[in-house]
Amino acid sequence: MQDRLEKIVSLCKRRGFIFPSSEIYGGLAAVYDYGPLGVELKRNVQQRWWEAMVYEHENIVGLDAAILMHPMVWKASGHVDAFNDPLIDDRQSKRRYRADQLIEDYIEKLRAKGETERAEALHRRLIEALNAEDMPKALYQIIMDERIPSPDSGAFDWTEVRQFNLMFVTHVGPVASEETKVYLRPETAQGIFVNFHNVKDSSRLQIPFGIAQIGKAFRNEIVARQFIFRMREFEQMEMQYFVKPGTQMEAFEAWKEKRLQWHIENGIRPDHLRFHVHEKLAHYADAAVDIQYLFPMGWQEVEGIHSRTDYDLRRHQEFSGKKMEYFDPQTQERYIPYVVETSAGLDRTILMLLCEAYDEEEVEGETRVVLRLHPRLAPIKVAVLPLVRKDGMPERAQALARDLRPFLNTFYDEKGAIGRRYRRMDEVGTPFCVTIDSQTLEDGTVTVRDRDTMQQERVHETQVLAYIKDRLRQ
Ligand code: ATP
Repeated sequence: MQDRLEKIVSLCKRRGFIFPSSEIYGGLAAVYDYGPLGVELKRNVQQRWWEAMVYEHENIVGLDAAILMHPMVWKASGHVDAFNDPLIDDRQSKRRYRADQLIEDYIEKLRAKGETERAEALHRRLIEALNAEDMPKALYQIIMDERIPSPDSGAFDWTEVRQFNLMFVTHVGPVASEETKVYLRPETAQGIFVNFHNVKDSSRLQIPFGIAQIGKAFRNEIVARQFIFRMREFEQMEMQYFVKPGTQMEAFEAWKEKRLQWHIENGIRPDHLRFHVHEKLAHYADAAVDIQYLFPMGWQEVEGIHSRTDYDLRRHQEFSGKKMEYFDPQTQERYIPYVVETSAGLDRTILMLLCEAYDEEEVEGETRVVLRLHPRLAPIKVAVLPLVRKDGMPERAQALARDLRPFLNTFYDEKGAIGRRYRRMDEVGTPFCVTIDSQTLEDGTVTVRDRDTMQQERVHETQVLAYIKDRLRQ
């Protein structure tokens, strides 16, 4: 199944969805650029998320906080002290691994070999180690006891396990010193927490209410791999929902279902999605679940739904000295709200959509590659194609394309055989191809070809916009 991912990576490069960053210099690991079609897909996904979260909920509003924040934010949030990955080095190959990942992969191998009991016992020990006071030491002990070899060299020559902070550091002002140090945010959530009062007071919202944000986050990931699955610069779509303490489980359950539904509405097959309940809860969380997708490399998280209690607001109250309380005008109660968050990776969602949409089928002895993206998410909505470059067809087609452009992302193409032009559009997921042919010159009708069925319908050229808009609503 990995070669399916390779095909998607190659399509993304070839057709202008996603390029490696700074490619002419050899690229920058785990950083990517979105090309002309990628940026359209990304904007469409953002738009869908924003509509579903902000426009469809009268008690959810948006925010766009800065990437750079006061360094105290990250002390309060716990990221300075605890945003760590446990790393271990193979002294022979000099390759670096995440210690917990190394153990997990080893457990998978045991399972594959049918050593289920041993695998389960080790799994329990891993969970214990991850919760241990001295987590690096506990992980190291497992690797020693099990004599887990290095996956690449096969040797058993490990360094000890060390913690590595994932935050990128930069400096404000001309002098680089401890005092001028700031971080690139590793998540968008904290921008929401520190603006809790600003948003609440300016929007006159009453609990329960939510604040939604889409924005960049940065993590110096050690094991960056699998294309845009794990990146060092990525985008998150997060919503923090503030509730009265005691009502968080109700909100948690409701958001779990809503978020799952959102992915299904975007065209993901329900049997390619599942909930994965966290075995290891962060110390501040009282419930957490991941929405996982069946990627070509297996089930992996695309979104987390976390019930974070009052941890974040309480910590900011402690560190800033500002009250983070809410006053309930009805009950006259004062409390620090609890938070349920939905946190999705935008890039990971895009990878999921591409994996789900990519299809190959045999048509008349040839392989047709088609991206079956939901029409609302497709980068190009309609291609306008004159059948031949004569008899006034190009002019007629250009006029139609001009009429459609203000409303739909429209692509005009007159070069090459019509079959090839259709295939190029199939490959990038364009749901509709409109062709101007000799009949158009007689009666003003054009053909509208459906990407998935390849069936064509005749529609009057003045009706094309209404027809497509109607189909996009379905
Ligand atoms: P993981 O376990 O994969 O590192 P996480 O549990 O740390 O992820 P969160 O901090 O909950 O992730 O972030 C929420 C979402 O942000 C994730 O579900 C994922 O979609 C996305 N995300 C997190 N890290 C990355 C990354 N390095 N690259 C791309 N997307 C990411």
